[in-house]
Amino acid sequence: MLTWKDVIHFSVNGNPKPDRRVEKTEQEWKEILTPEQFRVTRKKGTEAPHSGALCTVHDAGKYECICCGTSLFDSTIKFESGTGWPSFTQPIKENAIKYHKDTSYGMIRVEVMCNTCDAHLGHVFPDGPEPSGLRYCINSESMQLEKEETHG
Ligand SMILES: [Zn+2]
Repeated sequence: MLTWKDVIHFSVNGNPKPDRRVEKTEQEWKEILTPEQFRVTRKKGTEAPHSGALCTVHDAGKYECICCGTSLFDSTIKFESGTGWPSFTQPIKENAIKYHKDTSYGMIRVEVMCNTCDAHLGHVFPDGPEPSGLRYCINSESMQLEKEETHG
């Protein structure tokens, strides 16, 4: 399980290697993303709080990167943070996410990106629930939910 110490370590000393890499030009991303998805993921935008489609979704499944389809978070570690953005306590795999120290807007924060394609996802904060204490605050526009098949 990752903790804040690991997050800081990755952001300072380098991130774990992803299983694969997906790289496209800005023009290629524009062709496959909506304007809002492009703004958030490729231009480090932020959607308005409580506006995201995945905010109040609690269906079982895996949250994938909207750009490259890599699984990022599992619905079982999603929690209601009350912030207005989908929130998670852990990535699905240690090397799914990339961490970057972000000093924009006069704050020191840790930006989280897709480790496969560098899509901007959101930020991670050390005020999440136990046991990890992490809160991944992620834009809905950065993800799609791959719902689990229901067998009946
Ligand atoms: Zn990606």
